[in-house]
Amino acid sequence: MNIHEHQAKELLRRYQVAVPDGQACFTVDEAVAAANRLEFPCVVKAQIHAGGRGKAGGVKVVRDAGEAREAARELLGKTLVTHQTGPQGRVVRRLLVERACRIARELYLGLVVDRAAGRVTVMASTEGGVEIEEVAARTPEKILRETIDPAIGLAPYQARRIAFGLGLGKEQVGKAVGFMAGLARCFLESDCSLVEINPLVVTQDGGLLALDTKIGFDDNGLFRHPELRELRDPSEEDPREQEAAKHELSYIALDGNIGCMVNGAGLAMATMDIVKAAGGMPANFLDVGGGASAEKVAAAFRILLSDAAVQAIFINIFGGILRCDVLAEGVVQAARQVRLAIPLIVRMEGTNVDEGKAILARSGLDIITASDMLDGAQKAVAAAGRRS
Ligand code: GDP
Ligand code: MN
Repeated sequence: MNIHEHQAKELLRRYQVAVPDGQACFTVDEAVAAANRLEFPCVVKAQIHAGGRGKAGGVKVVRDAGEAREAARELLGKTLVTHQTGPQGRVVRRLLVERACRIARELYLGLVVDRAAGRVTVMASTEGGVEIEEVAARTPEKILRETIDPAIGLAPYQARRIAFGLGLGKEQVGKAVGFMAGLARCFLESDCSLVEINPLVVTQDGGLLALDTKIGFDDNGLFRHPELRELRDPSEEDPREQEAAKHELSYIALDGNIGCMVNGAGLAMATMDIVKAAGGMPANFLDVGGGASAEKVAAAFRILLSDAAVQAIFINIFGGILRCDVLAEGVVQAARQVRLAIPLIVRMEGTNVDEGKAILARSGLDIITASDMLDGAQKAVAAAGRRS
């Protein structure tokens, strides 16, 4: 789960991490009042779950109440398209109004899970304000790393090494060590998957400030943090992913046009690979899980059908704990509720496969049967191709 910048900054404040004074605003009047209270110049920032706002006109420095009103009016309700939103963009529904600061240097500081090391890693770079992926690709030597020992946390000597590596002056090293300690504690205590400060700025008077903050949480840890779960903003999330979460389905929306319904995460991944190998693009990752009921299968099928980009559905099931007859019941149930107007390709093996096939055959649904995974993927790609 991701949260907004203003929420992330509030969380960091609790860990004594320095962030600019600011306020979240939902209306133009609120934004003007906040700017007046904070004193000028201020920065009016669009709050969306995507970066790249600066270049897209989503971050505006304002010098008086008139400019604040103008900026808030322009941004609220606007569909902001950045290089991270995709071409459809994101609607701005809230703003963060902050006291502006005078920037001397822009740095990068991020905490991520290093999956190869199996540990949380601090990454830092003098190249702040730009995409860290770009820095990593072009000048990997400019990225400093320190791996956190889970038994100890971020050790002060590690934070100092980063601070010196960033070329910070004597007066800032102590501040930077406290700053990083706060970030590391926030990351570990809140079960984060990402804490990114880009840019971390050195101000002209020698202070350190988190000017932009992005925080993501590991969904599997959220049950331990009911207060963080409250920060969810449904308007920023894919409606199909939300519906899937309600039914405890593992569903992730993707860009392609072949809807995939599979049981087991491994088989689901293999199915996506084989669809791509057959020349197609999956529209989603979907694992209906082991013990799915017919109702859960029906919900999954409805989610696939609600995606206008889907031109064919490929059901790839290896019945084990999930029996083929239960799967077939669910598909038929959903197809009765929602008229099935696109090709349905089914590859089914395993427990009660004959009953499953009989249920599908009796349903009168127009089904293309596949003999194995590759055959199914090829048939799905061909069927989707004929339609688009
Ligand atoms: P992003 O583009 O979505 O990552 O949004 P950021 O919050 O990182 O803002 C983009 C850029 O706006 C920053 O890199 C800064 O250069 C600039 N910016 C943001 N806040 C201030 C501020 O208070 N003062 C000044 N001078 N520039 C700011
Ligand atoms: Mn940024």
